[in-house]
Amino acid sequence: MPDNLHYLTVQEMTQALQRREVSSVELTQAHLERIAAVEPQVGAYVTVTEAEAKEQARQADVRIAAGDAGPLTGIPMQLKDNMSTNGVRTTCSSRMLEQYVPRYDATVTARLKDAGAVLLGKGNMDEFAMGSSTENSALQITSNPWDTSRVPGGSSGGPAAAVAAGEAAFSLGSDTGGSIRQPAALCGIVGLKPTYGLVSRYGLIAFASSLDQIGPITRTVQDAAVVMNSVAGHDPMDSTSINQPIPDYTADLDRGIKGLRVGLPRAYFEAGIDPAVEASVREAIAALEAQGAIVEEVSLPHTQDALAVYYIIAPSECSANLARYDGVKFGYSDQNSPGLWEALDATRQFGFGPEVKRRILLGTYALSAGYYDAFYKKAQQVRTLIRQELEEVFTRVDVLATPTSPTVAFKQGERTADPVQMYLSDICTLPINISGIPAISVPCGFADGLPVGLQLMGPHLSEATLFRTGHAYQQATDWHTKHPA
Ligand code: GLN
Repeated sequence: MPDNLHYLTVQEMTQALQRREVSSVELTQAHLERIAAVEPQVGAYVTVTEAEAKEQARQADVRIAAGDAGPLTGIPMQLKDNMSTNGVRTTCSSRMLEQYVPRYDATVTARLKDAGAVLLGKGNMDEFAMGSSTENSALQITSNPWDTSRVPGGSSGGPAAAVAAGEAAFSLGSDTGGSIRQPAALCGIVGLKPTYGLVSRYGLIAFASSLDQIGPITRTVQDAAVVMNSVAGHDPMDSTSINQPIPDYTADLDRGIKGLRVGLPRAYFEAGIDPAVEASVREAIAALEAQGAIVEEVSLPHTQDALAVYYIIAPSECSANLARYDGVKFGYSDQNSPGLWEALDATRQFGFGPEVKRRILLGTYALSAGYYDAFYKKAQQVRTLIRQELEEVFTRVDVLATPTSPTVAFKQGERTADPVQMYLSDICTLPINISGIPAISVPCGFADGLPVGLQLMGPHLSEATLFRTGHAYQQATDWHTKHPA
């Protein structure tokens, strides 16, 4: 049996399963033991589904024995706790949904189950995916496996910490403004935010529906491509799902990047970027150049408006989406109030944490009569400018390269008192969601002993190019083979 099973890549696990060097039951057991060993320090899981995982592993072994296995059959995975899992509680790390058990699977859950992946459990997150440090979880704290006094990033902090600590072969996160890429960067692993509409949102508990997108969190770019092969593609249950066939994302991985045109947007290397982070990212870009990429500086002046646009649009959509939590149909319900309105008040007062309330208030204000034109409508207009500017730059370059996060992982508690400081964590990732394009974060070194992420973005449906670029980089470097002590 190969040793250190929990740090094999998905690809290596699949090979070991096919060659019968290990069974899915053994692989799952190794992960459950790893979870038991490190969870007291990391806290990446809200729920561990031990019995179900063992049963799914047994079924996967039957499929493997019957020669009916795919690339994910028998692979132990985690899902962020905002993706619906039939019969397994799905909390969004909120008191509102702490006891909520969905009666259906999200499309991504169903597709991974069909592929034979084994669900180990659900990943902690910022409540309703609002945050950048996972400190907004109402249920527990998640620590960065590289330094447990620091945050793992957010909102997919549980998934990123789990994958970095060898507590799952891969996980799925959701990304509304950076929630896959920023925690992936802070935990030294890979995270992809796909093109809007490429992965179905059916069964994903909504935060901001025009921005939300599900994507893979893995230790290698190749693994991210393998996971995307299973979860991407049209779904009639999601009206925003792109209706066209998807390619095999692993097909072009080894084609190299000779002649690839890489743009460096000046705005992403200015204000607020930690010099040590910038140095790592520039070194990574030099490594791309050494492999034949052609690098040029580009200008994206509207980038500076992205934060303001995001913090109008995301809260506006959130205030509409979260109106459904009234204590009648879903989740927590206050039973001690004298009347309907009092019960509604008490339900929302107790069920939502402070950041969620802040977003609902901001959004309700921005959408209210008299302010709609000044805030929401204006934000939508600037959103169009940001999107057009990016579309235009992609007529001249194939990908853009930037830092994923302006800093490395920060200390727990360091930014909780200052929402704007927290919001600035996503300054490099927000424009991508605003324009609907894909971006991947790839580990590219360390600053002060903590991981740094390189962000690569491309035009709509350029996932194959992003994978090819990221994979070429990982073939030339070994950052992705480093694990926390
Ligand atoms: N940190 C950003 C926010 O709090 C993005 C969150 C996300 O991508 N889900 O809104």
